[in-house]
Amino acid sequence: MNIIQEAKEKVLKGIALTEKEIIELLEIPLGSKEDQELRKTAREVAKIKTNNTAYIWSAIGADYASCPMNCKFCSFGEDWKIIKKSVRYSTKEIIEKAKYFVENGARFIVLRTTEFYSIPKLLKIAKKMRQEIPGDYEIVLNTGELDMTISNLMYEEGISGIYHACRIREGIDTPFEIDVRRNTMKNVQRSKLDLISLVEPIAEEHTNEELARNFLNIVDCGAIISGAMARIPVKGTPYGNAKLISESRLAQIIAVLRLSGGDIVKDICVHPVSLEALQSGANVMVVETGAIPRDEKLEEENWNNIDMKKARELIEEANYTFKSQK
Ligand code: SF4
Repeated sequence: MNIIQEAKEKVLKGIALTEKEIIELLEIPLGSKEDQELRKTAREVAKIKTNNTAYIWSAIGADYASCPMNCKFCSFGEDWKIIKKSVRYSTKEIIEKAKYFVENGARFIVLRTTEFYSIPKLLKIAKKMRQEIPGDYEIVLNTGELDMTISNLMYEEGISGIYHACRIREGIDTPFEIDVRRNTMKNVQRSKLDLISLVEPIAEEHTNEELARNFLNIVDCGAIISGAMARIPVKGTPYGNAKLISESRLAQIIAVLRLSGGDIVKDICVHPVSLEALQSGANVMVVETGAIPRDEKLEEENWNNIDMKKARELIEEANYTFKSQK
């Protein structure tokens, strides 16, 4: 049996791969016969593990504002001076955007902020959202560092999960200590909330070892959704002139992650989406609006021209059943 079939057998038994096994899969040459087998196998596994269902992760960037943390890949870093005029959406504006996502079938409504946004304010917005928008959608927060008490309080207030990541080259491309980010992930894991965490932001220079280690930390922190996100070279940031990783390599990484997470990681998300990535085992895709760390401007519509209609079409084209609930 080759390594791809061994990985399939393991993931279907609920066993996560080792660092060495993940690296071996990531080393498969792009475009080779093995690569084709890898993608096909990952899609088969996605069908079995997800009951062939796919979901939309809708994200609303609540504050287009400078952030003192200056992560090198993020357009909000205050040192890059990209943001000339801050915009902080009102609760009403956020609810309007959330309505569009819920009415069009998003399972997740994600409120995303810069690092130091007020948590009580976020909870107030979430509460209002529940009052004004009926439906079984899940509210997820993507904000700064959290302890367990706050995480549990969030759960009591109707939040279902937290997006948090220990980014690739955390501490080098960001000023955070790795343990600070990891502690938040661990606090969420110990709380009643779900953790969602992607391997990100991926660029060409990142090694297979770095990708594998990053993913295994996510598995160790018990994330129920993982996946891969590319680093977008935003003009004016330190990586503004860097190359974007190819769609094909991102899709290959998706295929590897689909086979690597045992029974911890249930769903695999890709951002930015491509049909190739969905056909390689991703079953969650992102539609986002507002303040976006991957763009220098405020996005009043939907980033990258992916709206809910287009997202559903892509999901159907990849032969998944689109669902707005678990
Ligand atoms: S990635 Fe987050 S913490 Fe880093 S600069 Fe951007 S908003 Fe701030």
